[in-house]
Amino acid sequence: MSVSHFPSHDPLALAPEDCGRGHACQFCPDEATCQLEKGHHEKQLIESRLARIGQIIMVMANKGGVGKSTVSANVAAGLAARGYRVGIADADIHGPNQSRFFGFVGERVRIDKRGLGPRAFRTESIDHPIQVGSLAFMMESDDTPIVWRDAYKHDFMHHLIGSFDWGPLDFLVIDMPPGTGNELITLADMLEGHDVAALLATTPQEVALMDSLKAVRFCQERGMPLLGVVENMAGVTCPHCGGEFHLFPRSHLAAALAEVGVESLAQIPLSPALASGSDAGRPIVLDAPHGPEARAFMPAVEACIAHASETFAAAAADSLQALSQHPSMSDEQSGELEAALASVPDDQRDALRAELGALLGAGSLPNNDDASR
Ligand code: SF4
Repeated sequence: MSVSHFPSHDPLALAPEDCGRGHACQFCPDEATCQLEKGHHEKQLIESRLARIGQIIMVMANKGGVGKSTVSANVAAGLAARGYRVGIADADIHGPNQSRFFGFVGERVRIDKRGLGPRAFRTESIDHPIQVGSLAFMMESDDTPIVWRDAYKHDFMHHLIGSFDWGPLDFLVIDMPPGTGNELITLADMLEGHDVAALLATTPQEVALMDSLKAVRFCQERGMPLLGVVENMAGVTCPHCGGEFHLFPRSHLAAALAEVGVESLAQIPLSPALASGSDAGRPIVLDAPHGPEARAFMPAVEACIAHASETFAAAAADSLQALSQHPSMSDEQSGELEAALASVPDDQRDALRAELGALLGAGSLPNNDDASR
């Protein structure tokens, strides 16, 4: 049984003491004897991770087999290619494929006091490695089937966000399990109040369309911004002659999306190069950035960047407004502003800091990055 424990140095403190460990209690060697408030620790853990993550992109599909994981991997890779710090959280419990798509098949994560270490995907064309976190790294072997009850799935969603040591990220792309069931609801609840937007992956088949509309309704009912739809298998390019043809007519999909006010952002061809890139552990967006497949993904990548920029601009404006109403900046406001600045790409942060300082009439704002260097 857990017991509330208050820090001895502050008898008036209302918050229970936290151990500061970066992993969930379930992974803790001291779990049996620990008397700290475990629920508080789990909550702290998730909030501390989320505080260092800018924009979260949930890649959803209400139907399996439409290429959602391929879309997730390539959107993450496209964001990394644009210079952002990116993580990809593989929440697809029943088909965790991101370890394969980034070339980490058979690898296992280590746990230390900072948490579970994501695998870092590096290649010459990206400035920051893509941090990959997946259930596949925690299984005994890659072909172990997952037969968990809902309570375990719920715990895993918390471990995925809280126990992986994501570090500072501009974007965390979450590869969701198909459907609008428990896993989606658990994550949507956990991420409430953070900058979350959805991308919907589908194919132009009639049966996928019906399911996609359910996912659209989920986003609308939850008030989650839906950036648009990525249509996978939207045409085939012949590897011999280069000619294009369509397997499924897309007129129904286009009409149905227009009716619910959702934009079709990208049409991804069914391509042998795309499939072999995924199997080889190198997202095609990075491997062949000028090819038709990579170009097809870019509107979805740009939509993520545009949304994050708008969200950041609105948050910065709110912070500025709050600051301007006070004669001097309090520690809390300063912290909020620094958190907002931390979500800006490195190359833009100093310029923005100078602009904010000028607006406040205080010269450049103090640079906390410098202090920590
Ligand atoms: S991780 Fe959980 S069990 Fe371990 S010391 Fe922290 S609160 Fe206690």
